[in-house]
Amino acid sequence: MSSNTLKPQHVLTEISAEKTNLMDFSTEKLKAFFHDRGEKAFRATQIIKWIHQYNTDNLAEMTNLSKTLRQELEKSCEVRVPEVTLEQRSSDGTRKWLIRLDDGNSIETVFIPEGKRGTLCISSQIGCALDCTFCSTARQGFNRNLTVGEIIGQLWVAKKALQPDPKSERVISNVVMMGMGEPLLNYNNVIDAMQLMLDDNAYGLSKRRVTLSTSGVVPAIDRLAATMDVALAISLHAPNDALRNQLVPLNRKYPIAELLAACNRFLEKKASRERITMEYVLLDGINDSAEDARQLAKLLKQVPSKINLIPFNPFPETRYKRSSQTRINRFHAILVDAGHITLTRKTRGDDIDAACGQLAGKVNDRSRRELHFSRIENTTK
Ligand code: SAH
Repeated sequence: MSSNTLKPQHVLTEISAEKTNLMDFSTEKLKAFFHDRGEKAFRATQIIKWIHQYNTDNLAEMTNLSKTLRQELEKSCEVRVPEVTLEQRSSDGTRKWLIRLDDGNSIETVFIPEGKRGTLCISSQIGCALDCTFCSTARQGFNRNLTVGEIIGQLWVAKKALQPDPKSERVISNVVMMGMGEPLLNYNNVIDAMQLMLDDNAYGLSKRRVTLSTSGVVPAIDRLAATMDVALAISLHAPNDALRNQLVPLNRKYPIAELLAACNRFLEKKASRERITMEYVLLDGINDSAEDARQLAKLLKQVPSKINLIPFNPFPETRYKRSSQTRINRFHAILVDAGHITLTRKTRGDDIDAACGQLAGKVNDRSRRELHFSRIENTTK
């Protein structure tokens, strides 16, 4: 049979290499997708439950859908989950998965158990376009944004590994968007993925247990405040602009005063008075003096916050060193004395390079970072 005897839609099915990935849809978007196909919206909820609650990637197992609908869906859709290529376990119980994506890049996802709490640290981009000087992800350059399916797929694969029986007690209680990448520079996909984290038909996590961490993309913080109620963490790392400009170059675009004002606007949108988590990595001799601590204590009087001190995790070829325990303790004490809720983060999983800032994955860099910097404004509008 010659190809020109085929009807156009058959040609389309034959030549389209990729089926629609149902992992790429938030609940609302899947409802719209079904609506457009003349299907009932509740079908979307059923499918979301199968994929995210029951951890299935097989349409044939979705037995409450009619056989006709399943067969129809199988022609053009699939549930494509990212592939785990390596799993590492730290002596402290931390687990790290290396996840290979369709295009040969890899990302890393980390699970940190602590008592009853189980926190999953998720990546939002392949590499990072920002150039924070103390972060090993920055060294990898930037490749691209992760899709919704690749972001939520990290939760999917971790849940499958940690909780093989989906009906058993929840193992992942918290998600932090603190892996590779700047989540607010992949705004739309991150929002859709977080919607699934919060949705009772999907992962059903409490909104206080889903935290987005940002280096301070001010317009996107405002957008987030208007869109979704999750916890916010800011990678502050310096008590003044001169120092922050060096450590977090994005500060040149959105200086501290603008950032803190955005934090207050974010909190105003919330029904309950909450706090912003302020992350501060302690770099020996760079930002860890008593004077830095006093400046920080004063600065953060402006925003209801809790301070998370992170001892620096070294990586090859870095020029920074971790502050000594004495300096960490002194910094911590000054903040506490000034009335701040302060926590020094325990270093976890560093024997498998799973600690903060050590995630690197495998990034085929095509960063042209300068270009991405100039695009930041456009992507956040
Ligand atoms: N781009 C986002 C998400 C990454 S979060 C953000 O900047 O918030 C990762 C957290 O780990 C951030 O607070 C980051 O500043 C911190 N971090 C990065 N490199 C680190 C390192 N080498 N040691 C300790 N913490 C680091």
